[in-house]
Amino acid sequence: MGGPGTHGGCCSTSDLCRWCVPFPRRRSSVDRGCSTLHYDSDLPPTSIIITFHNEARSTLLRTVKSVLNRTPLHLINEIILVDDFSDDGSDCQLLTKLPKVKCLHNTRREGTYRTPQVRGADAAGAKVLAFLDSHCEVNKDWLPPLLFIVKVRTSALTNLSIDSFYQDPLIAGGLFNFGDLEIVPCSRVGHVFRKKHPYVFPEGNANTYIKNTRRTAEVWMDDFRLFYYSARPAARGNIRGRVELRKKLKCKSFQWYLDNVYPELKVPDDSDSRSGPIRQRQNCLESQREDGQETTILTLAPCVTKEGVPSVNQEWVYTHGQQIRQKQLCLSLSTTFPASQVLLLPCNVNDGKQRWQRSGTHVEHLTSRFCLDSDLALDGLDSSRMLVISPCELSAYTQRWEGPVS
Ligand code: UDP
Ligand code: MN
Repeated sequence: MGGPGTHGGCCSTSDLCRWCVPFPRRRSSVDRGCSTLHYDSDLPPTSIIITFHNEARSTLLRTVKSVLNRTPLHLINEIILVDDFSDDGSDCQLLTKLPKVKCLHNTRREGTYRTPQVRGADAAGAKVLAFLDSHCEVNKDWLPPLLFIVKVRTSALTNLSIDSFYQDPLIAGGLFNFGDLEIVPCSRVGHVFRKKHPYVFPEGNANTYIKNTRRTAEVWMDDFRLFYYSARPAARGNIRGRVELRKKLKCKSFQWYLDNVYPELKVPDDSDSRSGPIRQRQNCLESQREDGQETTILTLAPCVTKEGVPSVNQEWVYTHGQQIRQKQLCLSLSTTFPASQVLLLPCNVNDGKQRWQRSGTHVEHLTSRFCLDSDLALDGLDSSRMLVISPCELSAYTQRWEGPVS
């Protein structure tokens, strides 16, 4: 358990590898002392399932070797590689030269979290299954803490101290061991976080992401899905089949989940926030991430809509806390002198410099009382396509904005 996560709470251990606990650790004290724990050698043997599609050879080898080197061999029933129809089908077979390794091939690409894992599970000889992404490096003692818990859960023992793990509110990726979702802090697995996927998404990266997250919101979040739509206004629509499945399975409500599984989650109060493009004539405020750059810049570009929906990087949310937000970034300033550049910085509700409000046709920056101005954004020079604040001037058309800011 534990593993990748696109959300906070991650600490980097090297350039390539990050190991994260995806949520604030509820009982962080249990992290200490892992190295002094000793695990029962009588633990259930496990089938380790690794699915992959176009994984780099060296990375796949490293994953498998780390499992073989750092897991007590008697606990590995087998390592099942499921090649999800990679372009080069030979890697999987080659790896069967390693001890305990078996290989399965899909005859068409099935994608993550669906059939490859299930296929591996069907073929597994052990009762306990563990799943890893194909770009991991397991740490020493990664498996025994997991198996210890499986043993506790599946046996009638009640006297064991089980204060060494806690419920996990969600699954953070492809690394998991079967059963309830729990975090076992002493089980550590490194996962390579990539900037790019080595495969294509059939409907494009952004669309696939929106479709998947929208499905989660629609199927699971009940009324709380409004928070999702306020963060991702471009995602709309219905996912009927899945909604019906949830009903049929009589799953508990999202409120139950919040009360019982994830009581720490603070429900935001900006459900009544407004969203849309922030427009000046035919141009719109747009976030741009330049190739190879870490930072996202704010600029003005021709407005783009597709079937009436603004493009994702031109859609802004005006929050209850008077921030102008897009995903986790907010319109911000580092200095408040006239002509200071408006930046996109991580949203922080306590940062007064991120607060804006409408004043007539203008968008006023609250602490400086200056106005959002596109003067420099419009002079055509690439180096100065930036938004600034300037003293408010009623007649300046570069300060006039239409949009959700109120
Ligand atoms: N994967 C797969 N088929 C696909 C896409 C991915 O079998 O069509 C595998 C991939 O090689 C990895 C796991 O599924 O072992 C999870 O995918 P990935 O690591 O790309 O997801 P991320 O960790 O980036 O969320
Ligand atoms: Mn991964």
